[in-house]
Amino acid sequence: MSTERVPLRHSLVTRLLVTSVSIALVAISATAWLAATTTTRAISHELGGAAADQKAVYEALVGYAATHRDWSGAATLVRSRAALIGRRITLTTDDKRIILDSQAGPDLQNVRPAAVVDPLDVDIGLTGGAEHIDERAAGPYVVPSEDRYVMNETAKNALRCLRRAGYGAVIDVAPTGRPRVLLTTVGRRAEGARIVPSPEGCTFELDTLVSAAEKKALQELSELTAGCLGLGGSAGQLRIAPTFRAYLGPRSVVRTKTELFKPAVPAQLTPARPEDVAQECVDAGRRAQLRPYVAPRALLFVTAPGEARTTLSLSGVGVGRIVAVAGSVLLATIAATVLVGRRLVRPLRKVADAAAMQVPAPVSTRDEIGRLARALNESAQRREQADEQRRTMVNDVAHELRTPLGNIRTWLEAAQDDLAPTDAQLLALLHEEALQLQHIIDDLGDLAAADAGTLRINSEPTAVRDVLTHVADSHRGAAHAAGVRMDLDITGDPVVLADQVRLRQVIGNLVANAVRYTPAGGSITIGANGTTITVRDSGTGITAEDLPKIFDRFWRADESRSRATGGSGLGLAIARQLTEAHGGVIEVESEEGHGTLCTIRLPECPDQHEEG
Ligand code: ADP
Repeated sequence: MSTERVPLRHSLVTRLLVTSVSIALVAISATAWLAATTTTRAISHELGGAAADQKAVYEALVGYAATHRDWSGAATLVRSRAALIGRRITLTTDDKRIILDSQAGPDLQNVRPAAVVDPLDVDIGLTGGAEHIDERAAGPYVVPSEDRYVMNETAKNALRCLRRAGYGAVIDVAPTGRPRVLLTTVGRRAEGARIVPSPEGCTFELDTLVSAAEKKALQELSELTAGCLGLGGSAGQLRIAPTFRAYLGPRSVVRTKTELFKPAVPAQLTPARPEDVAQECVDAGRRAQLRPYVAPRALLFVTAPGEARTTLSLSGVGVGRIVAVAGSVLLATIAATVLVGRRLVRPLRKVADAAAMQVPAPVSTRDEIGRLARALNESAQRREQADEQRRTMVNDVAHELRTPLGNIRTWLEAAQDDLAPTDAQLLALLHEEALQLQHIIDDLGDLAAADAGTLRINSEPTAVRDVLTHVADSHRGAAHAAGVRMDLDITGDPVVLADQVRLRQVIGNLVANAVRYTPAGGSITIGANGTTITVRDSGTGITAEDLPKIFDRFWRADESRSRATGGSGLGLAIARQLTEAHGGVIEVESEEGHGTLCTIRLPECPDQHEEG
């Protein structure tokens, strides 16, 4: 037995610690991940909302700039937009001088602008459109109302032409006042073998029709474009259509008030000058023409009120805070686990130490450890009792064997010393003592076999009458000698399932007791009724106090008397073991001074029935 300590790596505390730290780590990581993804989603949602707000503000301001020569009338627009999105809107010049501000706030010197508001250089990344020049900037291209009638009629013709050709289209008015035809379907309806015109064929006339005012502006634009392209001699050939596309070709037919261009080389002005270069020069010319008509370019700032910051970021302090919180959780987990673990293990150690020192374990808790301590204590107690019984048994056996052996030795020594004659009487005495020894040893053997579960019972249908008659006959002599009458009282011819030899031994023990404890003049009745066998005597009886002890091994109410009459104190113990081995029960009822009734109930024989 040892009380040595458990190695640290096998300790319950260590295992508990490893488990809870792993759980804490997983929990912290999962929570951090969840928090991070949720926050990121919330932030991007917030930023998305901010982006949508900024786009709307930008479009409104570009619209204003396209239709006004300066910003002087935009204060109300800026304030209302700012109120709408709950942010500060500021417009400044390129060198950050404030043009308009929705409310006073921190200096924006180090803040990046949300956009540059210029109707002649639209941020298509923000608007999502394709035009770099806002079409609301009409400038000198406004069509006078008196010219619009002819254009409307031409547009209607174009619409009819397109519909005939199977296209869906509608008429719309551009900010300049020009009607234009917009295609609403892309595909073309199949018209059998009939050749239908292309959309350009239908709208060509409308696209080339110009008013006098437009003609002048377009003329100026084509000169600017030719200069930009360095066309030199062929400059006179360059025409710009009202759609702001450049063409090279002869001067066109003049119609009433309007003039028609003839198409020449729309895709390419010269092989060396691809169309996109031409378009850039056209746009540059347009910008120069429109500049006086629009508000000057301005930087747009959309900021949180009171804060000169446009972006959200996880600062170093924030990261530090997360690490600190995670660390504290981990530390708390370790501390709690060690504390709880030690509290759990302490009573276990006490129990183990108590078991090692073979003293009762302290039962200090009502939990599983308390139960373990109680169970250990009970087990130790049972072991103690078993040891005690074994010691008593050995003592008793020695004691029982000592008397007959002592008698044999005394008689033999007397014979050797010629103190007693070596005659038939001596032999009879020795024989009797030897039988007594044999009897005790046989009884002990039977009990040991019953305890070990090796007692063999050969159960077979057994006629109770035969067994009882046999037992009565073998004890009749002794009963007669003791002056006791013996009767048989058997109802019918009962048959039981039993081992005949063992049943005889059981009943024999009961009858021997009855003879032994019944004084002269008394009577013994051995009875049977069905599967119940009884042995009744009119003897001394057993006191109520002794009755519970009569089945104990080697127990006797009056030791000297029973030994004198050959009782070993094993008879009833064996009777009970044998009866139970048959699947039956044995009971003893007794009244002191009036007699004793022993009853045995055996199991019924399944296929044999009581006869007559
Ligand atoms: P023993 O061999 O001493 O008879 P038993 O186990 O048969 O041992 O009986 C145990 C004790 O029970 C006896 O010593 C006796 O005191 C008591 N006893 C048993 N049978 C009777 C009986 N029929 N009448 C009175 N006492 C009895």
